[in-house]
Amino acid sequence: MHGEITEIPFLDRKTETAPREELTRIQLAGLREQVASALRTDFYRKKYGPLGITPDSIRTLDDLRRLPFTTKNDLREAYPFGLLAVPKSDVVRMHASSGTTGSPTVIYLTQKDLDAAADTMARSLVAAGCTRDDVLQNMMTYGLFTGGLVLHYGAERLGMMVIPISSGNTIRQLKFMRDFGTTVVHATPSYLLHLHAAMLESGEGRSAYRLRKAIAGAEPHSEELRRKIEDTLGIEVYNNYGMSEMNGPGPAIECVFRQGMHIWEDRYIPEIIDPDTLEPVPEGETGELVLTILCRSAMPLIRYRTRDLTRFLPEPCPCGRTHRRIARLTGRTDDMLIINGVNVFPSQIEEVLLRMKGVGANYLIVVDKNGSLDKLTVQVEITAEAFADDSRAINALRERLRSEISALITISPAVEIKEPGSLPVSEGKAKRVEDRRPPE
Ligand code: AMP
Ligand code: ZN
Repeated sequence: MHGEITEIPFLDRKTETAPREELTRIQLAGLREQVASALRTDFYRKKYGPLGITPDSIRTLDDLRRLPFTTKNDLREAYPFGLLAVPKSDVVRMHASSGTTGSPTVIYLTQKDLDAAADTMARSLVAAGCTRDDVLQNMMTYGLFTGGLVLHYGAERLGMMVIPISSGNTIRQLKFMRDFGTTVVHATPSYLLHLHAAMLESGEGRSAYRLRKAIAGAEPHSEELRRKIEDTLGIEVYNNYGMSEMNGPGPAIECVFRQGMHIWEDRYIPEIIDPDTLEPVPEGETGELVLTILCRSAMPLIRYRTRDLTRFLPEPCPCGRTHRRIARLTGRTDDMLIINGVNVFPSQIEEVLLRMKGVGANYLIVVDKNGSLDKLTVQVEITAEAFADDSRAINALRERLRSEISALITISPAVEIKEPGSLPVSEGKAKRVEDRRPPE
């Protein structure tokens, strides 16, 4: 749906259209504040101390490039409190990312940080054309995942009526959408397709729904898939990018022109680097997005390697915002899988398999589509002794594998038990993952 754009909404027009010099000034002041805050954490004190990094050593924004990167692994090492920059009693909220081996990657927020996260999210929702008259049904999981609560807070701040229904139970989702006149949904792109299929099945025509927009994120999707959802559901779909480490879904969203996502540069400093040389790529070329968060005092993250691949869209946006846009994400520089919006590292599954008695040497993780949703299957060889057991014992092993994997990664896989030696053995580096999802 590409209707004529007659209105360009802003939450904070002055900041959103601030000249570059002003944004640079805000970023420099913010960066110095973040370095000061970093030096209050055990983690950064150890890292920055020997390098002599202090707020005063940051004179221009270019000095950012002299600072070391921070990685997901650093977050794990600093677990649980090594990155906390304020007294614990000042923290009002924590969130954690799915998809880590061992310790989860956790963030902390003070009340002020939470307000800033809500404000950033509200700004994003307004940029995407949401208003206080909208009814928002939040179909993302509530709990540790930021896509539930942080978006919720942003929508409330804007004054939308929020239905905190969380994910799953499609029949109930559709009932609520009809009964409460939902106009905006927040969901993964694959769930939006699933919703459409369920809508058709329910026999209720499209006219029973008032839906006009979807905020879609948490997983990669192509322009073609966006069009497909827009055409089938007859709505506008806005790409929304974020990650728990950066306070969740607020940092970047498409404005009503839907041509790339504005990244809020007064609250984040984006860089795009070559993942091999770690040097910045020329403006407009694809590389790994690196983010520094400026709107959080409880937990600094400076030059955080997101592992997400994108590029800056250097042309000015017709909406007049000066905050740069990034293109749709095209992949990752690590092996993280995103399955129905949940992050999964193959090593997490391996961790369960390796500690389970009776499990053999070889396994294969298969990701496929089941209708419009992703389906995860773990094929695993068991030992000859285990294979000689009766079917009850084998079923019990299958069930234990399923429940232990699902406890760790939060999604439940199908587990296929295989005879020893039946999975293909690769020469050289073992191929442990087969992603059979068709490119959209
Ligand atoms: P989480 O920390 O669980 O919110 O997961 C964050 C990750 O989800 C990001 O690093 C991306 O890989 C992915 N992601 C989030 N939003 C999008 C999006 N709009 N398009 C593509 N991938 C996304
Ligand atoms: Zn714009």
